[in-house]
Amino acid sequence: MNNKVYNKINCENCKSDNTKKDGLRKTENRGKIQRYACKECGYRFTLDDGFYRMRNNPIKITQSIDLFYRGVSTRKVQEHLGVFYPHNASNVSIYKWIVKYSQMISKFTGKLKANVCEEVQVDEVEFHRRKSHQAKRGVEKNFFVDSICPETRFLVASAYGRTRSSKEIKSVMNNIKSKTDNQIKVVTTDGFFAYKKVVKSVFGYNNKLGRYNVLHNIVTASNGEGFNHPIERLHNNVRARTKVMRGFHGSIHSANAIMRGFEIYYNFITKNQAIDCCPYELAMPEMKEDLKDVKNKWLGLIYRSKGL
Ligand SMILES: [Zn+2]
Repeated sequence: MNNKVYNKINCENCKSDNTKKDGLRKTENRGKIQRYACKECGYRFTLDDGFYRMRNNPIKITQSIDLFYRGVSTRKVQEHLGVFYPHNASNVSIYKWIVKYSQMISKFTGKLKANVCEEVQVDEVEFHRRKSHQAKRGVEKNFFVDSICPETRFLVASAYGRTRSSKEIKSVMNNIKSKTDNQIKVVTTDGFFAYKKVVKSVFGYNNKLGRYNVLHNIVTASNGEGFNHPIERLHNNVRARTKVMRGFHGSIHSANAIMRGFEIYYNFITKNQAIDCCPYELAMPEMKEDLKDVKNKWLGLIYRSKGL
């Protein structure tokens, strides 16, 4: 991955791709990095690979993020780094890396199309988020709304919010729709009232066929089926992971970023037992091909999100 040759490098000044390599620049933490020069306008530049001006190197940063999503607290990550690296980062820095890179990657992965089956299952998990590091300030009830393709196990879209309101549900439904084009024919949810309106309004009515574009499949515990297995397994997974995410208190903004990171971890990083690979390998064949030689997927995704 680190030896990757970037093909077309566009000038940061005039956007021309008529550029050439122009020696190396020595940096304190990223080692020697390639400098480029534009043959059109003469501008010299280095690429922003996502780690520009970071005081720690990409391996150390992505290693910390990986440990965190595997269930290690930011304090334990800090202790771990202290054993192997001379310069010790604070656990606040580690927390900031998690938030920063989760947002960076999800901006990119959020735009990718997913190849999923006809059904999507949508459900919500309740969270009790500590309002601040000081326990006395109390907890707040939040909701994580997510959606999964039962076949590829791909987590299609999710939202983290203060309430289980139509707003969060609508944002998830809209994301499902835009990420899957017209593949979805069945939306499965529990009996929560807000789903009814939102499913209909987001997926719309087909005048020609005289029916709604998707079938809204409502499952309730009372009809004996209970909820669907894939999404319940995902929720057990979410609960197990977030239990040890001590950094989960603080602002709702960072809690949301942490859940974006969890989505990346779940789809791209960790092998799903049910399918014996990562969900993106089934739902995004092009990404599978693109990342096939990349061992450190966090790093690969950060580079991709920078267009490299
Ligand atoms: Zn130029």
